[in-house]
Amino acid sequence: MPGVPALQLLDTDSLLSDEEREIRDVARRIADEKVRPYVADWYERGTLPARQLAKEFGAVGLLGMHLTGYGCAGASAVAYGVTCMELEAADSGVRSLVSVQGSLAMYAIWRYGSEEQKRRWLPPMASGDVIGCFGLTEPDHGSDPASMTTRAIRDGDGWVLRGTKMWITNAPVADVAVIWARADEGVVGFAVPLDTPGVTVNEIQRKLSLRASLTGEIVLDDVRLPESARLPEARGLRAPLSCLTEARFGIVWGALGAARDCLETAIAYACEREQFGKPIAAFQLTQAKLATMAVELNKGFLLAMHLARAADAGTLRPEMVSVGKLNNVREALAIARECRTILGANGISGEYPVMRHAANLESVLTYEGTSEIHTLVIGQALTGISAFS
Ligand code: FAD
Repeated sequence: MPGVPALQLLDTDSLLSDEEREIRDVARRIADEKVRPYVADWYERGTLPARQLAKEFGAVGLLGMHLTGYGCAGASAVAYGVTCMELEAADSGVRSLVSVQGSLAMYAIWRYGSEEQKRRWLPPMASGDVIGCFGLTEPDHGSDPASMTTRAIRDGDGWVLRGTKMWITNAPVADVAVIWARADEGVVGFAVPLDTPGVTVNEIQRKLSLRASLTGEIVLDDVRLPESARLPEARGLRAPLSCLTEARFGIVWGALGAARDCLETAIAYACEREQFGKPIAAFQLTQAKLATMAVELNKGFLLAMHLARAADAGTLRPEMVSVGKLNNVREALAIARECRTILGANGISGEYPVMRHAANLESVLTYEGTSEIHTLVIGQALTGISAFS
């Protein structure tokens, strides 16, 4: 870099412990070696070698890393956060693979599963030998999962699942899905092996965002499951919502990674690219853009750090995560768009990562609670009044 790295403007490294810096460096190295050289090509082809990557990430302990026991690393929330940041600096789709595996599928089993389910699923998921996904969204019910129509019907000693889940990350390659369904007693969850008769997975094609991520529809056509597949501790919608809080925390950090990569690319480009006889970085208008973006990036880091320390102290509340997700994704998207202008025509080229990050962040803005839904969460926290319906 020609000057101080964008995220070091406030010496943010000094906020990390030696161990957190070491974990960050492992994640950065694996992203640099295993993702960055190839991701533009995967993105163009609309694919991801998810199995191969899961094993690489599992081998260095990045899957379910903030969970304890069952082969999980038991790392701090800060360490998990900086890992998400490094992975998303390479691509949001790669961070999504890890978030869904660790924070949605593994967390759901770890928090709500039986001892037998934890022993069966968590060690091979931590190593990357088994890939998981998380089915909450349906074709007609996204922001309002309470209205879900997937049904779980008691059938003798077991259950029958009927319904369709949509937009499910990792589904086309997953071995197990955590599926949420409505039963007579309320919302219940299941760990569903995807080779169970009656399950069909269809890959969603033609995405223009998050192309280096596998997304699918899961059709459940009278899928018979034993009682042992039900997550016994999950009672009501609070269970899947608590999983989403886990994953949103990773997004608060991940979005910073995408923004940092855009800004570093734009700074390097602006220092090299000459117009009117001097580098475009020498124009005050360009410097104003760079300075404004660097300020937002560093503020976003401080916010993420505050949330992570609160998570490690056990004081993190869901509305605090909403503040982080709303702000950091919104600012990351603004940074990606502004960086694109600095690269001029090259800004739209796949030779540079900026347009890819910008397109990815459109999905990140929508999934795990849209910006509107997080605004309503914050509004409710401030007023005590729910404006959701
Ligand atoms: P809708 O809920 O239909 O919302 C459409 C618009 O209306 C949005 O702008 C929304 O904010 C607004 N809106 C809705 N209600 C209100 C309200 N009360 N007040 C104001 N505005 C409102 N889901 C999973 O379960 N698992 C996954 O792994 C997963 N992965 C995904 C991967 C990708 C790439 C994408 C794009 C989505 C994924 N999702 C996943 C789904 C995602 O969580 C939903 O798309 C999201 O919750 C929004 O739902 P929706 O798309 O149905 O939009």
